[in-house]
Amino acid sequence: MTTSREIRLKSRPVGTPTAANFELVKVDLADPGPGQVQVRNTWMTVDPYMRGRMNDVKSYAPPFQLGEAMQGGAVGEVTASNDPAFKAGDLVQSFFGWREAFNAPAVAVQKLDTHGLPPQAFLGFAGMPGLTAYVGLLRIAELKEGDVVFVSGAAGAVGSVVCQIAKIKGHTVIGSAGGAAKTAFLKDIGVDHVIDYKAEKDLTAAVLRAAPDGIDVYFDNVGGAHLEAALMTAKPFGRFALCGMISQYNNTDLGEGVRGMVMAVGKSLTLRGFIVSNHTDMQAAYVKDLAGWVAAGKIKSHETVKQGIEAAPEAFLGLFKGENLGKMLVKLS
Ligand code: NDP
Repeated sequence: MTTSREIRLKSRPVGTPTAANFELVKVDLADPGPGQVQVRNTWMTVDPYMRGRMNDVKSYAPPFQLGEAMQGGAVGEVTASNDPAFKAGDLVQSFFGWREAFNAPAVAVQKLDTHGLPPQAFLGFAGMPGLTAYVGLLRIAELKEGDVVFVSGAAGAVGSVVCQIAKIKGHTVIGSAGGAAKTAFLKDIGVDHVIDYKAEKDLTAAVLRAAPDGIDVYFDNVGGAHLEAALMTAKPFGRFALCGMISQYNNTDLGEGVRGMVMAVGKSLTLRGFIVSNHTDMQAAYVKDLAGWVAAGKIKSHETVKQGIEAAPEAFLGLFKGENLGKMLVKLS
């Protein structure tokens, strides 16, 4: 018998979530049953898509249930095993985040071979956010030689990898993020033109200052005014990877709409949304490319780390206030 603490969904948010929507609960864990493992998480991730799962609506991922522990990516260590495939001390990755420890069927966790990277990298650039950047840029936006690439949310988990992959492939990159620390980080990772959108009155003018002839590719993490600026500055046959629109996630209705959609007609633009889990066939190629880039020192990552399970709601809420530089993570032990 051991104890754990977990974060449960206490109430569904209307608009921007608050700490009151979450509840920290202590639970007793029995020894793992037949075919089960017991895992103590060391790191968990908070991600913007979890906001959608707090709503009771049908979507690509099912809603979190009221009164139940939330779910999300985590890495941890097996502490007890009742399955021959695992032993105490094994490093594993799972979808049982938002809790300190858990019992689960062994088939629900995966052994993690870190290849010398820190384990939490697999919640960031070496995991789902990194693959999202790779898929969005290479498959969805069909990156081509000479493209000028505009990235919103550029200093975040996905955006910072998008910028770096585009630079590795020799493109001119325009990155937009909020505030001086983030723009300094973008310069540090080699972004050619940096926009602090919080300091700009006219985002279209800011993009045109960076790219007077316009942009070929827009990688959207944010939606809203950034998407409008991309529509206005796109070259003919421009390609948009619609990865996320975090500026819209706390809307209680459809929001104000996107101005400038008419540009998509005259400029023959392609706007294509995607969900990374539909593109896991690119995982092997990403792992291979990433290994080469890491070995060559071409990928820099940054983490914003909150300490302890009790800080998980604050970490999550911080995503909507721009409190993270790079990947937002919670260190659990
Ligand atoms: P980030 O690490 O980028 O964190 C979120 C960032 O969004 C904040 O730091 C903040 O940066 C920015 N932000 C928050 N609110 C606003 C706002 N109102 N207007 C403009 N910017 C805002 O998160 P991720 O990298 O994990 O995710 C980035 C995007 O990619 C999200 O939209 C997410 O939903 C999406 N995504 C999509 C996937 C897919 O399969 N399609 C998979 C993974 C992520 P700043 O301070 O610069 O404003």
